[in-house]
Amino acid sequence: MSNKIHHQIVVVGGGAAGLGIAARLLRASGIRDVAIIEPSDKHYYQPLWTLVGGGVVAREASVRPMAGLIPKGAQWIQDAAAKFFPEENRLTTRDGRDIGYDYLVVAPGLQIDWHKIKGLPEALGKNGVCSNYSYDTVNSTWENIRNFKGGNAVFTFPPPPIKCAGAPQKIMYLAEHYLRKQGIRDKSRVVYYCATPTIFSAPKYATALVDQVVKPRGIEVHYKHSLVEIRGQSKEAVFQNLDTGETFVQPYDMIHVVPPMSAPDFIKQSPLANEAGWVDVSKETLQHVRYPNVFSIGDASSLPTSKTAAAVRAQAPVLEANLLAAIQGQPPKTSYDGYTSCPLVTGYGRLILAEFDYDLKPCETFPFDQGKERWSMYQLKRWVLPVIYWEGLVKGYKWPRFGA
Ligand code: FAD
Repeated sequence: MSNKIHHQIVVVGGGAAGLGIAARLLRASGIRDVAIIEPSDKHYYQPLWTLVGGGVVAREASVRPMAGLIPKGAQWIQDAAAKFFPEENRLTTRDGRDIGYDYLVVAPGLQIDWHKIKGLPEALGKNGVCSNYSYDTVNSTWENIRNFKGGNAVFTFPPPPIKCAGAPQKIMYLAEHYLRKQGIRDKSRVVYYCATPTIFSAPKYATALVDQVVKPRGIEVHYKHSLVEIRGQSKEAVFQNLDTGETFVQPYDMIHVVPPMSAPDFIKQSPLANEAGWVDVSKETLQHVRYPNVFSIGDASSLPTSKTAAAVRAQAPVLEANLLAAIQGQPPKTSYDGYTSCPLVTGYGRLILAEFDYDLKPCETFPFDQGKERWSMYQLKRWVLPVIYWEGLVKGYKWPRFGA
């Protein structure tokens, strides 16, 4: 059997972005041949991991078999894309397939670089070290929060970009709330070390978080600090001050670590990458800047917005319209404004729904000030957004663009 195949449209990645865009394209007239290259037999609804780590939802609710989500009419190639040859309109895979395409959509998400923090891979899940950033480790977060008896509860945010820049602090707010409910808050320090100079990129929500949450709840925040080493045996974390370069040791009783992230290595090493390693697309049209039959969407793309599933929802119709225009030999039809959203869980039953664009300007959906903590917005995250994700986003249907 020949390993050479050809499809009209090849989508790399069956995540939030890849599944949704494949489904959309298959519904468009004249598109009959879409293949999805995706190695995993499972799909994860990652935004739920905040609530899993906070003990609200079982982690099993965040996973579904990939086979049930591949859109009808798409061909699933269960393999991993490995090398791109965009001059020849083809790519090769880990298992040796050679796949040609007329149009390519690149959506393999980003890569978690656990190994970039010394001692982290060995310590994860033990000695008070936990992380919401993978299915395998998310249960360790709730175990640590539940068993915390007082002392130092430490939370980290690495140098960006990361996916869901709000997630590192959401879990801290849940933990802090839990400690108060247990009556042990006065025996605990809640400390946040973040590599960025502010708590959140969009100023409106940064101010809201500091004034409504961080200050009144006595959370210590250290900006421009990055975790460089975990010493699991002695329960010590080594941080670097990014201004002075100095390092120091912070003892912890529990530490929630957000690992560094980057573009997947196979993208970094490909002709599709920009200098930083991301798929080099126009921030307006999502079309590759050198290869007009290549598009990218989601976390792997160079789009300079906060990497979220909510952003994917706003990107998908733009990519769909512009790819279909390209097929008809027309210029791009529409443009992406950088819309992204972050449901900032600030406690059990509280949430600030951030929505903003490339200019970090709020673009809010609801007719009230979303910069205030609200019970209703927490219920939206808990009950409505999962339905929108499973029934809307990954099936490529049009839904309101708030949250994910
Ligand atoms: P993914 O959904 O990560 O999918 C990438 C897919 O590509 C995977 O299926 C993977 O197996 C596949 N792949 C990898 N390598 C290859 C290869 N070589 N070849 C082919 N396929 C490959 N977003 C929100 O909107 N709101 C939130 O509240 C929120 N909270 C979050 C909390 C946490 C803890 C985390 C981890 C993420 C959160 N996100 C949130 C972010 C959101 O999950 C991502 O931005 C979104 O999943 C990105 O979609 P994607 O398709 O680009 O990547």
